[in-house]
Amino acid sequence: MTFKELNISEPILKALINKKYENPTPIQEKAIPAALDGSDLLGIAQTGTGKTAAFAIPIIQQLDQLHLNERRREIKALILTPTRELAIQIGESFLDYSKYTGLRHAVIYGGVNQRPQVDKLKWGIDILVATPGRLLDLINQKYISLDHVRHFVLDEADRMLDMGFIHDIKRLLPMLPKQKQTLFFSATMPLTIANLSRSILRNPVTVKI
Ligand code: AMP
Repeated sequence: MTFKELNISEPILKALINKKYENPTPIQEKAIPAALDGSDLLGIAQTGTGKTAAFAIPIIQQLDQLHLNERRREIKALILTPTRELAIQIGESFLDYSKYTGLRHAVIYGGVNQRPQVDKLKWGIDILVATPGRLLDLINQKYISLDHVRHFVLDEADRMLDMGFIHDIKRLLPMLPKQKQTLFFSATMPLTIANLSRSILRNPVTVKI
């Protein structure tokens, strides 16, 4: 299987060649077609499997193919991840894979001055990668609106639970539009996470690696 056979668009194929990715990993092979179709996804996979590209590529492609009148600089994709390190890594992946599109992203996380992050948001972005606490902070200060989110990724849901972020996530969920695509990733499926996934996913395609 090749990326081309997965119907990945030219600008992204070019970026993947730059990255020297030759073939999709197993999770990419299964998740990318489902996500490009607009389905919700339940991905049971660890870090290291290529799961970041499995959600980043279909999101970039769908946003890059929006009609001109849908291209206002507002947050159209939100990726929630538990740690600063993961947020930075995911941001770098979006930068790599979207470099031949006009899409812009920002990364926000706690424990640092919010000023540079707020400046980046004011510049106008399409994709936001965030940890839950800082996201809630900046929403409360009205620097962020989630009203136009059409793709939502919950990354490492089981780690979110372990780190005590489940309450933050439950506060964030009602702020998202009802009509959206949700991609849910977890390495393990404890009962709380299985219940959470069931409550937020609609007819998901399940991919287990
Ligand atoms: P992740 O599981 O998303 O943290 O990805 C693990 C590592 O695999 C990262 O360093 C990616 O750059 C790399 N990677 C992801 N997809 C591919 C691919 N299709 N071919 C080669 N490397 C990849």
